[in-house]
Amino acid sequence: MTKPASFEDAGAVLDVSLSALKSNYRLLAKQAGAARCGASVKADAYGLGASSVAQALAEEGCRDFFLAHPSEAKRLVGLVPDDARLFVLNGLPKGTEALTADLPQLVPVLNSVAQAEAWAVESQRQGRALPAALHIDTGMSRLGLSAGEAMRLKQEGLLSRFDLQLVMSHLASAEDAGAVSNKRQLDAFIAIRVAFADVPASLANGSGVFLGAAYAFDLVRPGAALYGLNPQANTTNPMHQVVRLSAPVIQNRMVEAGASVGYNGIFTAPRAMPAATIAIGYGDGWLRRAGGLAGFFEGVRLPIIGRISMDTTVLDCSALGKRLLQPGDHVELLCESQTPDQVAAASGTIGYEILTAIGSRVRRNYVA
Ligand SMILES: *Cc1c(COP(=O)(O)O)cnc(C)c1O
Repeated sequence: MTKPASFEDAGAVLDVSLSALKSNYRLLAKQAGAARCGASVKADAYGLGASSVAQALAEEGCRDFFLAHPSEAKRLVGLVPDDARLFVLNGLPKGTEALTADLPQLVPVLNSVAQAEAWAVESQRQGRALPAALHIDTGMSRLGLSAGEAMRLKQEGLLSRFDLQLVMSHLASAEDAGAVSNKRQLDAFIAIRVAFADVPASLANGSGVFLGAAYAFDLVRPGAALYGLNPQANTTNPMHQVVRLSAPVIQNRMVEAGASVGYNGIFTAPRAMPAATIAIGYGDGWLRRAGGLAGFFEGVRLPIIGRISMDTTVLDCSALGKRLLQPGDHVELLCESQTPDQVAAASGTIGYEILTAIGSRVRRNYVA
């Protein structure tokens, strides 16, 4: 344990391996064949830090970044190469057309007839064809135009009033290779695409990249798989682990037999046990319902005991024998022995939520 250089240094840390991230990008790009490989870096790159992640991926040749909100895209202007595109998946918020047009790298994903019409008007006002993507719904009923609406806009000539760079759709169950909806959505996308044969197309998220070559089209949009989550359920994860979450011990004690631990005393020590309190809790995004899990110290599993608090979690350190953890020792919570996917399965959620929940009190540390 080295002396912390700052207060932040003395707290919980999310280590992000940029080399593992880059390997994952290369694996996905290879799997996508001739299609371009983009990256979903919305929600601060799923909690890992969008600016560092986007810059690392740009070094691997990535030029197509997907954000949810225009504010997220704006933050990457100047950080990604000038020839990179920043797609805004949630669409073009009403009234932001001129602001969006001012940032030429932003490509709004038009999700409705009204957005397409507003973008055509803005293009006319600016006297140039502004870049756009068009999202066509093929079975999620979440975002995008219906196939009928897209056809009508095309026939009316509206889509030629801006620079349509991509037609896209999104799969509802791509992580389940056996889901019948995948093929159904693929067929629907192929059918509508006929009308847009001259425009590059994109259907696959990271999971979709593993459904076969037919799903890749011209551009794929992986997110979670880049960050190490398993893109396909019930298979061995082909991705490298990218994150490691650890928190420092801030106090240790011997819990006497019969004493209870934490709020509401849901755990009572069956025997005297050494315990360590670490500086992480649900206020850091370490979910309160993750109670059945453990911390790991030098590979030794230390079960969580009692309720997870907002700022602290208590571990049973019996497995370390005579060795007592000391304040400043770091205990791992996300690591090879306890991956985000495993924490998610034990907490009734998905790895995406485990990563995006990690809060701003946790320092991001980028390692090669
Ligand atoms: C979030 C998102 C992605 C990335 O999905 P992953 O499952 O993380 O690979 C791709 N496309 C759209 C439309 C999205 O919303």
